Amino acid sequence: SEELLIQTEKLSIAGQLAAGLAHEIRNPLTALKGFVQLMQVGQETHRKYLEVMESELSRIEMIVSELLVLAKPQANSFKRMDLVSILRDVLTLSETQAILHNVQIRAELLEELPEIDCDHNQLKQVFINFIKNAIEAMPDGGVIHISAELLAAEQPQIRIRVQDEGTGIPQEHLTHLGEPFYTTKTKGTGLGLMVSKKIIEGHRGRLEITSEVGMGTTVDVYLPLPN
Ligand code: ADP
Ligand code: MG
Repeated sequence: SEELLIQTEKLSIAGQLAAGLAHEIRNPLTALKGFVQLMQVGQETHRKYLEVMESELSRIEMIVSELLVLAKPQANSFKRMDLVSILRDVLTLSETQAILHNVQIRAELLEELPEIDCDHNQLKQVFINFIKNAIEAMPDGGVIHISAELLAAEQPQIRIRVQDEGTGIPQEHLTHLGEPFYTTKTKGTGLGLMVSKKIIEGHRGRLEITSEVGMGTTVDVYLPLPN
């Protein structure tokens, strides 16, 4: 209907604005951060102010880069690709962070899977986000299990599962996951799940999070096969 068309148009204009804005903010931000770092010599009080300024700049930088993942023009960067190779890249990229936090990542069932239509950079970011959250949920270390398998159903789909044995998420918090800026971390942005959910939906997929306090969290991503 007409109303729906107008709604969609509004959304895409908002998306383009956000993308433009993010790009515009990033350049001056990088320059500011550089100068703040250069100025961190001399008077003690000034050095303290500059440290605070630098950490606030880093925070803005983090928010901007998380939003920028969404900014890419979607449809034309989709390619038919092997999901396993994407997951292997993600594992390689996450290895250092995992080791630093005493976390072991175990990949299972990463066997041959049919190719899917996707933006591999966006999907990489999604799984990096989930692994980062899993690591952050296990301050004393632990194990992350990652698996991907083909679910034969009427509509065949691939399920990628990222499972941790971390703090878990209280029931009353589960409904807030994916809301922009919802975070329980002092240094969090609360954008990771929102961006991940948007990307998965852009792939005609679905995100499901189940969790038990003290036991851990399971993040399931369902992605459809090409028609
Ligand atoms: P951020 O990590 O910056 O806080 P996210 O959108 O990635 O933002 O996550 C939002 C919130 O969801 C987190 O602050 C945390 O409370 C919760 N959360 C997400 N993943 C997990 C997980 N694996 N274990 C426990 N809590 C999680
Ligand atoms: Mg996060």
